[in-house]
Amino acid sequence: MPTPFERLLPKLQELTDIGSACALMSWDQAVMMPPAGAAQRARALSTLQGLLHDRLTDPAIGELLAELEASGDEDLDVQASVRVLRRDHDRATKIPGRLVRAIAEAEGLAYQAWTEARPAADFRLLQPHLERLFGLKKEEADALGWEGERYDALLDNFEPGMTTAEVEAMFSSLTQGLVPLAHEVLDAAGPAPEVLSREFDPDIQMRFCDRLAQALGFDNDRGRLDTSPHPFTIGIHSGDVRQTTKADPKDLLLSVYALIHETGHALYEQGLPERMADLPAGRVPSLGLHESQSRMWENQVGRSRAFTDFLLPLLKEQFPDQLGMMAPEEWYRAVNHPQRTLIRVTSDELTYNLHVALRFELEIALFRDALEVSDLPEAWNDAMAEKIGLRPPSDADGVLQDMHWAMGAIGYFPTYTLGTLYAAAFFDAALRDLAGLMDDLRRGDGSRLLAWLREHIHRYAFHMPAKELGEQVLGGPLTPEPFLAYAREKYTALYL
Ligand code: ZN
Repeated sequence: MPTPFERLLPKLQELTDIGSACALMSWDQAVMMPPAGAAQRARALSTLQGLLHDRLTDPAIGELLAELEASGDEDLDVQASVRVLRRDHDRATKIPGRLVRAIAEAEGLAYQAWTEARPAADFRLLQPHLERLFGLKKEEADALGWEGERYDALLDNFEPGMTTAEVEAMFSSLTQGLVPLAHEVLDAAGPAPEVLSREFDPDIQMRFCDRLAQALGFDNDRGRLDTSPHPFTIGIHSGDVRQTTKADPKDLLLSVYALIHETGHALYEQGLPERMADLPAGRVPSLGLHESQSRMWENQVGRSRAFTDFLLPLLKEQFPDQLGMMAPEEWYRAVNHPQRTLIRVTSDELTYNLHVALRFELEIALFRDALEVSDLPEAWNDAMAEKIGLRPPSDADGVLQDMHWAMGAIGYFPTYTLGTLYAAAFFDAALRDLAGLMDDLRRGDGSRLLAWLREHIHRYAFHMPAKELGEQVLGGPLTPEPFLAYAREKYTALYL
């Protein structure tokens, strides 16, 4: 007689396989697909996602879950998977099919409107779609249920276990410390170094990126690197992790630092236990934790003086004409040059979180009915002037710059900053545990750091909520202090 878990396993494998097909088709959509394939691909993806939803809400899964909960299986992977699947199953079951379809349709229309509104710099093209979508997302939050406030339910999609109140308190103490520091540094930093606008052959950039990813521990037998307009990483399956970067002849730092960032995500995916590949708990527990890995490799490692000293001679070999005369100090300053910009994705380590804070504040204001969608552009511009000190000349460089809201990704933005805060705090813990870590990085050797991350974070997958895992690593709750201390020390030495 098969155990309840043995009866559940084929259903889990089916969920994994449909999920893999969705992931592969999404990867292909962003990397390979010819433009004329778009409409059919969107339909095929929505068909498969519907299928996934049907399978996940299958009452038979609910029955097997109840049996497993009653039987108390002793295997820790099974216990964690029962908790995660219970959560996924209940959440999927609570949202009526009518609402799932209405949201999918509204997201498709809003995204389409966004692709037209941004080049036209005309928010009015997007506004009615966002109004509908935010309305539906409020319905979704109410269907899922919440205790503190509505936004909690959506935040929970991306950062399970974290509440709006906690995140709001974190942002508030972060911005209190960060705003004065950022403006003092920005005023002192001056214009961008000229070297960054020289020409760098994109093919040479890509070959360099491929070698750099492998040097950091990315396993090419279990993944690939390609190019796409928006760099990203997606796990197709445990043996197949895809990452992309983007090579712009006018911007060497873009390809190299997007690569280091995405490699951080990819190393996490490649570090998840293979035995859990088909299990609900075999995945990364939150977007904030995912982002902690990418930000740590990109910033604490990649933008450190030790690592930039390692990178420069290698880049000089590839680009002797452009970089031959560059001194290590000059290169380190170029890599860490802060600048007031209107655009989040091109902003630096210091101001990035102010861009995120702005989005988070607007999202919760919308969800608390303290702001109307029609007032978003004005509210955005006011907040940008207050936080960054620039006023967008048009909505294209203001409220229309990100696709997230038009894609229904509400509750997503704060995870970028949670990732930044976790990155700094985790790296401090690694520095305490690993004597001589910065000397490793000066040689380009991240292997001891990677082994530490595997041991303390990756191997747990979703055995516990991200918040709990974070506390286990840090010995206490996450605070913005390690990040603020890191930023203060680094940028004071650089510019003040
Ligand atoms: Zn990322």
